[in-house]
Amino acid sequence: MLKIEHIGIAVKSIADSDKLFSLIFNNNSYKKETVESQGVFTSFFQLGESKIELLEATNPESPISKFIEKRGEGIHHIAFEVEDINNEIERLKLAGLQFISDIPSRGADNKMICFLHPKNTNGVLIELCQEIK
Ligand code: ZN
Repeated sequence: MLKIEHIGIAVKSIADSDKLFSLIFNNNSYKKETVESQGVFTSFFQLGESKIELLEATNPESPISKFIEKRGEGIHHIAFEVEDINNEIERLKLAGLQFISDIPSRGADNKMICFLHPKNTNGVLIELCQEIK
């Protein structure tokens, strides 16, 4: 894995949380994007090499709705950039790890993404992402 690409934070309202994080970072969100297939509305902040992704649910069935229901707002996932997402999926599957879905799908911010199942990863939801070139 190359680096931590971003940290995802589940929020109830991007309208409200954008103001809060803009204040904390002293920097505005550079991009807002809805990914309907993932049930998320996202807002991204760039801080040097690092990014923060705010995630708001777009519908009650969204994984973000379920996360907030169960655990409240907070850190939802850590995303790691990889060079070849299919190779990484194969490598980790061979090692016995499970994915939520082992077929990469299109995520926000021009990335192919997939998630390891948090049951295997000490309760941390890990996203692998690869830039679409
Ligand atoms: Zn993410």
